[in-house]
Amino acid sequence: MTDSIFEDALARLRQYGESAGVSHEVIESLMHPLSMLTASLPVRMDNGSKEYFTGYRCRYNNMLGPTKGGIRFHPNVSMPEVQALALWMTIKCALVGLPYGGAKGGIIVDPKNLSPMELERLSRAYVRAMADFIGPQTDIPAPDIYTNARIMGWMMNEYEAIKRIKAPSVITGKPVRLGGSLGREDATGRGAYLCIRELSKKHQLDPGKTTVAVQGFGNGGYNVARLLHDAGYHIVAISDSKGGIYSPEGFDVDSIYEEKQRTRRVQAMYCEQSVCECVDHDVISNEELLKLDVDILIPAALEGVITENNAASVNAKYIVEVANGPILSTADPIIEEKGITVIPDVLANAGGVTVSYFEWVQNRQGYKWTLDEVHTRLQEIMIEAFNEVWDLAEERNLSLRSAAYTLAIRRIGEAVEAHGTRDYFSK
Ligand code: NAD
Repeated sequence: MTDSIFEDALARLRQYGESAGVSHEVIESLMHPLSMLTASLPVRMDNGSKEYFTGYRCRYNNMLGPTKGGIRFHPNVSMPEVQALALWMTIKCALVGLPYGGAKGGIIVDPKNLSPMELERLSRAYVRAMADFIGPQTDIPAPDIYTNARIMGWMMNEYEAIKRIKAPSVITGKPVRLGGSLGREDATGRGAYLCIRELSKKHQLDPGKTTVAVQGFGNGGYNVARLLHDAGYHIVAISDSKGGIYSPEGFDVDSIYEEKQRTRRVQAMYCEQSVCECVDHDVISNEELLKLDVDILIPAALEGVITENNAASVNAKYIVEVANGPILSTADPIIEEKGITVIPDVLANAGGVTVSYFEWVQNRQGYKWTLDEVHTRLQEIMIEAFNEVWDLAEERNLSLRSAAYTLAIRRIGEAVEAHGTRDYFSK
């Protein structure tokens, strides 16, 4: 077990970097985050008191373009976690060919304990602290766990007030009326769905006979579950932070979603109710969900849920990483040994940043695309990336993760080499 999730991410980078055949300087450049900012965020609470929250931003690598990555609101946010997520963004953007580097940000907070107005003040405080660190051509944030379109709208508005300009391209995942892109809301789930559709073609999986368990029922988890259900796959287990439900018959995903929406407190921004309380089901824990005998397991919540301690009990044939980093590097050999095919996070959840890129392009053009255009372009990018990874994995007998990292590191490597490396300067 490594000490932090960032060290775990670096261990994978070292391992795959060696087999990617790039120069030592390329790997070295990816071991060192570009810049980090930690800020105290003072917020006036509804009861008149002032509380100080801690916010982070890491711009990891900008070799291929301005840095890009979400902002997470969660009690467990830490700088090592933000760095790991920013490194994965760097690999992801390179893999799907976006002109971006990687970044990430977060605030240590349980947003469920804040009123909507406190949440707005906190979101604006984050941007006040980060206003000189982010920007449409330097670093472009987006939503992540427990942040959403409304929060992105507040953040854009605060940035514009500070800079005294209109700058919709400073942040993506905004409400459509504030310059958001059609198709951004379900883009992460749609990208994962497209990967599963391609996987199903490769391995002749019949949706009607394929069972799926989804951990996490938020933006990523809900949307991939909905699209799979609509395509005929059986969603037999779903969970959220409070636990899970299981039914071998499969669930109607939208009824669970509606129930979860209905039971939300009217004035609150976050669900108070667990999915456990809304339909006929067996109650299971999140740990039990990971061990279910299903065809496809989709971790779509937090990182580090499959470790060297529980990997041996995973019974799925395929794992599709909608969450970032759900499998620790120390669990990789056990998962491989069991013959489980993993579609890695840097590919499976790349639909989100891809449509964020479309949003940024539309904002910069001052031009709106139709939903069809967004879906068509997303599909093109996801299918091409999936097949590139698949083909390299077949050709070199690599895991899909290893092939994905190899492709991404080579692309970043070409940019590093273009600036000149030791080989060039010592000729
Ligand atoms: P979200 O806030 O919309 O949803 C998170 C879900 O996870 C909620 O249903 C929550 O109840 C559940 N959850 C929280 N803690 C849990 C726990 N301990 N066990 C089980 N479930 C738990 O977040 P999201 O945007 O869907 O992000 C989920 C994952 O997907 C994260 O790893 C994120 O980095 C990744 N991701 C998101 C996007 C995006 O566009 N939103 C893009 C790429 C990757």
